[in-house]
Amino acid sequence: MRSKRTGLRVTPSFHPRLVNGRYGDPALFVDRAHERGALLFDLGDLHPLSARDLLRVTHAFVSHMHMDHFVGFDSWLRVLVGREKQVDLVGPEGLIDAVGHKLRAYTWDLVSRYDTDLVIDVAELVAPDRLRRARYRFLTGFAREELGEADAPGGLVARTPAFSVHAAILEHHGPSLGFALTEPVHVNVWRNRVEERGLAVGPWLKPLKEAIRDGAPDDTVITLPDGTAELGTLRDLVSVEPGQKLGYITDIRDTPANRAAVAALCDGADTLFIEASFAADEAERARDRAHLTTTAAGEIARAAQARRVEPFHFSSRNEGREAEMLLEVEAAFAPTPLPLSRAHQVGHAPGMT
Ligand SMILES: [Zn+2]
Ligand SMILES: [Zn+2]
Repeated sequence: MRSKRTGLRVTPSFHPRLVNGRYGDPALFVDRAHERGALLFDLGDLHPLSARDLLRVTHAFVSHMHMDHFVGFDSWLRVLVGREKQVDLVGPEGLIDAVGHKLRAYTWDLVSRYDTDLVIDVAELVAPDRLRRARYRFLTGFAREELGEADAPGGLVARTPAFSVHAAILEHHGPSLGFALTEPVHVNVWRNRVEERGLAVGPWLKPLKEAIRDGAPDDTVITLPDGTAELGTLRDLVSVEPGQKLGYITDIRDTPANRAAVAALCDGADTLFIEASFAADEAERARDRAHLTTTAAGEIARAAQARRVEPFHFSSRNEGREAEMLLEVEAAFAPTPLPLSRAHQVGHAPGMT
């Protein structure tokens, strides 16, 4: 991948793959290249994932609790039980109860034989900028513990030093969450420029890089090996590359409000995964089922100025129409005629199963 702003090459940190391809249950597994962890967007059928892959998942983001998006929770739980782990689930209002109901379907009378604890923290977006949180813990037989409410400024639902995830409440039959996964900017130090200033490279650069990554103002004071300087005078010592951004949008009605919300959430995404359940000639059915057509998916990706679009959640009634549906998405996404080779690549994107 090349950075939009500078054209410099950036090694991607996120490696996404659709667990069940374009037709099966929605589940996007995002491998994090530089860490041991992985993320999941939606928990449809997860059987294609190995136990090892499932154990690496630290966060799962659930669009809504229709069965094709949530049935895989049990597969994940199966490998987690008996391990010392903490995982996070984020989804729409109702997720805390839904997880509780799933957990209560099993008998946990043997938990006292374990000394490992599994902690499942669940957060549901109850308003565009408000989360409600609860915890289920293996050693209490998954009794529900309330964790109260928390702010989710701008829809920020998860944040670690390596990534953040924003969500927007979209309309399907009920609410369905759309997600954007972003990596912080990459800050690289120009060693020669540091030395030209008569400074030595060293640990003092770490707070400088962090201040720039976190968007600190120019008057922030940075400690140098011999004194201090304002951040604004040090910016030319580093180059800043935008981080990677992925969008995940599924099960939404084609409405102006949904289109605007997705364009804002997924603005400039490197890759936008977006449902396209129905073909262009099935607009009425798509309306009736509160899903998108291929054309709508392509137009929305275009409005978001995504660099690439990966449609999925193709309806099983469109089995055998994959090539045609990909062309319909591509035609709406990039309305200028494309050489066939490009259209072909979209159907065989790296990492797709
Ligand atoms: Zn649905
Ligand atoms: Zn669905």
